Amino acid sequence: MTLPHITVLGSLNMDLVAYVPHHPLPGETLTADAFATSPGGKGANQAVACAKLSRDRPIEEHKEGGPWKGETAHVSMVGVVGKDGYGSQLRGNLARYGVDVSGVVESKEATTGVALIIVDKPTGENRIVLSPGANHVLTEGDFKNGLGLLGEGKPDLLIMQLEIQFGAVLAALKAAKEAGVDVLLNPAPARKLPDEAYQGLAHLVVNETEASILGEVEVSVLDTEEGLERVARGFVEKGARNVIITLGGRGVYYMSRDGRKGLTPAEKAKVVDTTAAGDTFVGMYALDAVGKRDGEFDIEAAVKKANKAAAKTVERAGAQDSIPWRDELE
Ligand code: ADP
Repeated sequence: MTLPHITVLGSLNMDLVAYVPHHPLPGETLTADAFATSPGGKGANQAVACAKLSRDRPIEEHKEGGPWKGETAHVSMVGVVGKDGYGSQLRGNLARYGVDVSGVVESKEATTGVALIIVDKPTGENRIVLSPGANHVLTEGDFKNGLGLLGEGKPDLLIMQLEIQFGAVLAALKAAKEAGVDVLLNPAPARKLPDEAYQGLAHLVVNETEASILGEVEVSVLDTEEGLERVARGFVEKGARNVIITLGGRGVYYMSRDGRKGLTPAEKAKVVDTTAAGDTFVGMYALDAVGKRDGEFDIEAAVKKANKAAAKTVERAGAQDSIPWRDELE
């Protein structure tokens, strides 16, 4: 049996995190208390989520490509890194989690994307500078003539976010539609989408901020079920087949074109760190949705499973590290 194939087209970043006693003032040179690097980028995080949630935790450290146990999906990443140390670390890291990285290419000109994160230790407040670097190498032109860049054979599901060039995402959406490939779009960081982007979209997954920006409403509208229903219906009417609005600790509002809708509460969790909760949700939901036609897809069951996986992530510190393996959910 061939495994369902999920491709994530998106960003890879190295997060450089300095912990400081206070944020530096203009002109000030400050000594950090601690420093850490960690692999990130929404694209890479969601690829890791799909990979870890679709296979058992490896018993011993293994080389690229497994062997894996209980694998339920083939997960590949398409993106660009620089020809530098961070780039090879990011590729190696994805492979370690079981992601096929043959579509992650090295740019000769651009440097690997980095996020410079300064954390004020007393308050925990972040200041972040994002340098997209190689993540912006892919352009609209790369997808003008179809999804060729995604490699041999079409994926059963294409997942995208908005951390690569917007024109590239829109062109890939169009090409996917023409090729009959289902797309899950997680429009983060949020920006308004042209109406045609919703047409034929299999899954739109947004958090509250994204829902308010895309739906052009105040965030407070999402406080009530009526408000959530109104915003979700707007996305369905524009053409999205399934809409998910994640609401942090409140859970998830879902609506599908065939009329199923509801508010599913989050799983109870002892919150340690919510980083990558949304990415874990996307990964688990995608694994449930991949390859299913509208009539076969149980959106409520998918939301419940995704809530369960995301709750596990919020109970652990870290980003990609905190995402559970498949057997950790049993
Ligand atoms: P994002 O991280 O993208 O902003 P959310 O904050 O909406 O997204 O969280 C995504 C999902 O993670 C939620 O729908 C829920 O399933 C889970 N989650 C987030 N916060 C909590 C929490 N405090 N308790 C339990 N689950 C949570």
